[in-house]
Amino acid sequence: MKQHLLDFHPLELEQYLTTLGEKNYRVKQITNWIFRNYSIDIDQMTTLPRSLREKLTDDLTFFMPEIIKEQLSRDGTRKFLLRLYDNAQIEMVLIPYKEKNTLCVSSQVGCSRECQFCATGSLGLVRNLETYEILVQILLAKRILNDKKLTNIVFMGMGEPLDNYDNLIKAVTILQHDLGFKFSPRRITLSTVGIIPKIDKLSESGLKLKLAVSLNSAIQEKREIIMPVAVKYPLKELKKSLLNFSKKNPYRITFEYVMIKDFNISREDALALRKFIGDISAKVNLIKWNQIEGYSIESPDEKEIDNFINLLLPASKAITFRKSRGTDIKAACGQLAAEYV
Ligand code: SF4
Repeated sequence: MKQHLLDFHPLELEQYLTTLGEKNYRVKQITNWIFRNYSIDIDQMTTLPRSLREKLTDDLTFFMPEIIKEQLSRDGTRKFLLRLYDNAQIEMVLIPYKEKNTLCVSSQVGCSRECQFCATGSLGLVRNLETYEILVQILLAKRILNDKKLTNIVFMGMGEPLDNYDNLIKAVTILQHDLGFKFSPRRITLSTVGIIPKIDKLSESGLKLKLAVSLNSAIQEKREIIMPVAVKYPLKELKKSLLNFSKKNPYRITFEYVMIKDFNISREDALALRKFIGDISAKVNLIKWNQIEGYSIESPDEKEIDNFINLLLPASKAITFRKSRGTDIKAACGQLAAEYV
């Protein structure tokens, strides 16, 4: 199978072009077309000689996933359904908020982790996304936004990003590279359920980005009920791994905590959470569970949420309550299932 043009890191592109006997400036010409003009159409790359365009066409593919559906939420959130080369489908979500535009990016088709509060988890894993399939979501968002700036990227779409470690990390290095999208590390957040060996690998890699951990309970037995991954990667070990990550990364870790009625918002839950985050440089992001049809768990009411926030406040950490966006089009946290009604 031919390699996709967007799968090349700029340094790999340089090596490849050298083997073709091309000069270095061709790298900049090609990366300009991709990352500044958002084009991977070889016929549009008119600054390249015809002979090189023909050679690239022989060696590589330039397939562009197609947006087959778009939905617009009352709050301005936009959800896009994309068809990939093998007809597999994924979703990406563009969230405008004040002066920010955040793109929620998918990393897998489906997911194997079976979190009980997440629609993607019920799909099972179909396959990992290739590096270019991850990057193409950013490229499409840039085209859609036109003259508005894409300010933040969050790997919180379909899939567990660290289960697709190599392709995802390569995409992030291309995102950050000067000849790539040139994205600041502090504007890229990777959200994980806590795949410990991969968090450790990320710590050792030296790559800088923000880490978010989908925690949802700091009580081991409870976490195992809603997140089967916790059996293999228990909280005690996860904490060690996160402390190590904190030492090597300049950014505070975010703990995502989906609040579920009568399950994880009692005094006992708050105390456990305060104890767990105790010495980790972190902030807590509380999210009200977004109702999904056919699920028996329920969202808490406002009084229950306020009560839980008050129980957490003495932890003297940054605590935010994030109002979910795009719930009316099933674009909010945990609702992505690549199905449209
Ligand atoms: S929350 Fe993330 S890791 Fe868990 S099932 Fe959903 S997509 Fe997978």
